[in-house]
Amino acid sequence: MDQYRNFIAGEWVEGVATRPNVNPSDTTDILGHYAQADAGQAEQAIAAARAAFKTWRRSTPQQRFDVLDAVGNEILARKDEIGRQLSREEGKTMPEGIGETVRAAMIFKFFAGEALRVGGELVPSVRPGVGVEVFRQPLGVVGLIAPWNFPIAIPAWKIAPALAFGNCVVFKPAELVPASAWTLAEILSRSGLPAGVFNLVMGAGSQVGHALVQSREVDALSFTGSVATGRRIVADVAARGGKVQAEMGGKNPLVVLDDADLDVAVNAAVQSGFFSTGQRCTASSRIIVTAGIHERFVDTCIDRLRKLNVGHALDAGTDIGPVVDAQQLAQNLRYVDIARREGGVVFGGEAVERRTPGFYQLPALITGTTPAMTINREEVFGPVASVIRVQDADEALAVANDTEFGLAAGICTTSLKQATRFKQEAEAGMVMVNLPTAGVDYHVPFGGRKGSSYGPREQGRYAAEFYTTVKTAYTAA
Ligand code: NAD
Repeated sequence: MDQYRNFIAGEWVEGVATRPNVNPSDTTDILGHYAQADAGQAEQAIAAARAAFKTWRRSTPQQRFDVLDAVGNEILARKDEIGRQLSREEGKTMPEGIGETVRAAMIFKFFAGEALRVGGELVPSVRPGVGVEVFRQPLGVVGLIAPWNFPIAIPAWKIAPALAFGNCVVFKPAELVPASAWTLAEILSRSGLPAGVFNLVMGAGSQVGHALVQSREVDALSFTGSVATGRRIVADVAARGGKVQAEMGGKNPLVVLDDADLDVAVNAAVQSGFFSTGQRCTASSRIIVTAGIHERFVDTCIDRLRKLNVGHALDAGTDIGPVVDAQQLAQNLRYVDIARREGGVVFGGEAVERRTPGFYQLPALITGTTPAMTINREEVFGPVASVIRVQDADEALAVANDTEFGLAAGICTTSLKQATRFKQEAEAGMVMVNLPTAGVDYHVPFGGRKGSSYGPREQGRYAAEFYTTVKTAYTAA
């Protein structure tokens, strides 16, 4: 059987097994069979990256710019084709798939520029006749572990800065979305990188991921995924003295105050709660609404949800694609059921059939919930949001912060005073005013606080904090 192979030491290498890539909109549609590596092949990729680092660490900013800019340009030129493939394997709609692909391209182009802008400091010493330089250097071999929900953007925002700052990469995509990863690897394989600088190793978290976490040859590990996996990885990498960064789950609040513009608030809630099938770490899943606007807000939201088309991701007119797989659908349905049993009033949320066999679910809005309910404590990661009614802005802020997570938080208000206070006091890495909590720029830091994140921020100029190490050099004149 033909398989899409791994890319190790500059060669396309068969796996020890293959895995079919199933379209969640139509489970009879297989995108292809993708190589599955074992821990031994992951070790080979790590060794190749280590060997390549000897020379790549001395690559010029111009070399790195040329590679990253070329990759960004090719992704941009092929955005419709790559975006369609992404939608076919992950289930987000075509416009969402193309949008994510463009974002990935822009990330490569941004970090092409960053490769040219690595600066340092020349500092007078406190001692006479001594000069001090402070500068950044690459770390060495970085392991990159990605989740399935942004099959090209998240790999891009890890791979591009890793290469821009002179590191070598071993990249492990999520099992469910190897096609976007393979396409990106294929583009990188023709970009002028020396063999071994970039390696793609598709396979199970317990095999390939585990090898990256455990290997002392992996100097730094960047992970995005679930809280349970992330916390284990942080502890394991730190225990062997490696550098580690983890972006994990969210239970993001969107506060709607009495003085909010109703259309703005409903739009923010529907966009960030349900688009991309709610499978975004920045999705608004707790909508905290003050009493004076609560009824109007809920009624208008439900009107909007009734009009959304749930369907095949590639069909024109689909607003919400399928859930990514059977396991995630079962998890979503279980949480809706728990919410109902704990006293929530559920609108929607049923699994439904469409013209092709897939994992379709209607968006669920659960009203009458309280902060202590399971639905307001645990991440669902589907088209499911709950509404918490509160008396005033003080209670809204307290409820918004009453969570172990801290990725994104939003507020809809026309009061500058309330917006300013929320930006200051929301315990989250990213705060949005009169905007959906999901949907961020590609050139500024991304990440959270509390249980959502560990380590330095990703993206923007701040990515240098993770992908470089700082050296201080002293010279006697
Ligand atoms: P996951 O934790 O199941 O898997 C993430 C990656 O880790 C996959 O590549 C997987 O193969 C790998 N993995 C699994 N077990 C491993 C192990 N023992 N050792 C090493 N690697 C292992 O997460 P998922 O289901 O793919 O993604 C959904 C989750 O990701 C959600 O919780 C979501 O909130 C989170 N997410 C967070 C962000 C963010 O930036 N905060 C962004 C997107 C997704």
